[in-house]
Amino acid sequence: MTRLPQRFARLTLFAALLVACSSSTTSPTNTDTTTTTGSNATNTALPVPYRLFSDSVTITIEGTNLVLRTKDVPDHKSAYFQTSDSRYQAYNGTNPLFNINPNRIASQSMTFRIPMTPTSAATKTATPLGAIGISLNGVVFFNQYAGPNQPLTSEINSFDQANGHPQQSGVYHYHVEPLPLTAKSGSDALLGFLLDGFPVYGPKENAVTVTNAMLDTYHGHTAVTKEYPGGIYHYHITGTDPYINGAGFYGVAGTVGN
Ligand SMILES: [Zn+2]
Ligand SMILES: [Zn+2]
Repeated sequence: MTRLPQRFARLTLFAALLVACSSSTTSPTNTDTTTTTGSNATNTALPVPYRLFSDSVTITIEGTNLVLRTKDVPDHKSAYFQTSDSRYQAYNGTNPLFNINPNRIASQSMTFRIPMTPTSAATKTATPLGAIGISLNGVVFFNQYAGPNQPLTSEINSFDQANGHPQQSGVYHYHVEPLPLTAKSGSDALLGFLLDGFPVYGPKENAVTVTNAMLDTYHGHTAVTKEYPGGIYHYHITGTDPYINGAGFYGVAGTVGN
């Protein structure tokens, strides 16, 4: 009866050696990973727009991907922190129908792998439920649905004073304009990126409020922006459904996981 565990241990060791072997020969981490040593703002290895991420987001480069790690905890007050938390603030927004949901913000461990050079996808793919992108303060973006084919209608009344809320496992997220970000940086500012690496801008451009009619079915268009003076495809957050993204990712999407 004791032979089985021994044999298992030998097999496990063999498997571990195999894994170690393959990772040392195929993993790019030994050759072209750049580790951040200071703040994102001064990390010259990063594309310039990515230097705008707050330091709550850890960014490394792995091959052709930018790898962003976030705890997804907002850097602003919310009615969804525990009341004992110094970041708790009772709802003081403008929605008279505000109705707090039973969930509370919980620290996460989320990793986004986003192509450094975004490219248009030949076949567009729908955005998943859950995180579809990341904002500059490390909070994630969700799409325009509350569930499969369910509009946000009732969820909207649970958005806090920042326009975010947590879902059942405490994942705090924005479906619409993150008010503290536009208050800080302007309504025309870069707010973050979707998983396909294309940037997300606020609801204004050149002092004009962007409407859905000005955007394509994926909720973006190509134009010059402050961060991309040569022009780039980008999404806009607008005030009406579908808010951030329409019929799916314009580009080839990266991945998000733990
Ligand atoms: Zn939601
Ligand atoms: Zn634009």
